[in-house]
Amino acid sequence: MPELPEVQTVLTTLQPRLLGLRIERVEVFLEKIIKSPHPREFVAWLQGRSITGLGRRGKYLLLELDGTHLLAVHLRMTGRLVYSNPDTPRDKHTHLVFYLNNGDELHYHDLRKFGTMNLMLIDEFAAFCSQKDLGPDALDPDLTKELFEKRFQGRRGQIKKLLLNQSLVTGIGNIYANEILWRARIHPERTVQSLASVDMEELYRAMRSVLQEAVAGRGTTLRDYVDGEGNPGSFQSQLAVHGREGEPCPECGKEIIRLKTGGRSAFVCADCQPQTKRSEV
Ligand SMILES: [Zn+2]
Repeated sequence: MPELPEVQTVLTTLQPRLLGLRIERVEVFLEKIIKSPHPREFVAWLQGRSITGLGRRGKYLLLELDGTHLLAVHLRMTGRLVYSNPDTPRDKHTHLVFYLNNGDELHYHDLRKFGTMNLMLIDEFAAFCSQKDLGPDALDPDLTKELFEKRFQGRRGQIKKLLLNQSLVTGIGNIYANEILWRARIHPERTVQSLASVDMEELYRAMRSVLQEAVAGRGTTLRDYVDGEGNPGSFQSQLAVHGREGEPCPECGKEIIRLKTGGRSAFVCADCQPQTKRSEV
């Protein structure tokens, strides 16, 4: 499912194609994707609007329209936003089509139908983020090591669960949480209270480097994910632990194991990610 690097890749592939184009009309085949405003207003408002910018916050892809409005798209599990030409086949999972003034189309496709779209004024976006309780983007240049550490202070519970909590830092899902924790040499079941400042520093560094490398690798395709041009990512070949149960750890060669924590699969090297504090090792 798309996480920060995948959404960033959708953004960078769509940006050169969409910027400056006008939406002639929108056809909606599944209204439940549209969360606000009412689908009728959504369609009526978008007609004739120009795409003036693209952005991202965490896993939300943002289309700026006429310099005044934002369309926030969340791909959830299996959503795809793909630039298409009129010959591109549609199927029963193509839920929205944006007809563009150059004759091309933007297709929203979603097998599991969990994706969402919200259209709002740019001025309303801050309120939208606080209503969704979205923390700073994991790659936000303003998110320093100190601010990152501060956001976890006073929290309790397993570090992996907190990394997945979008209100602390937004953009990380299960795949990258597993990769980041392995790179930081932190066991996913360690509690945040047990982590020393040096661990949080490692975690911050690992978060930045894993996500940046995944963006450079154009995201991870395990099943459904494709970018804005319909192409899969390539970072799956660089995953160190996620989905690699039984394979050797790239660092020490010990077999990677799978644990269930909080209903999600954690992939761990028990040697590289001890359950005890570093000083006790
Ligand atoms: Zn290892």
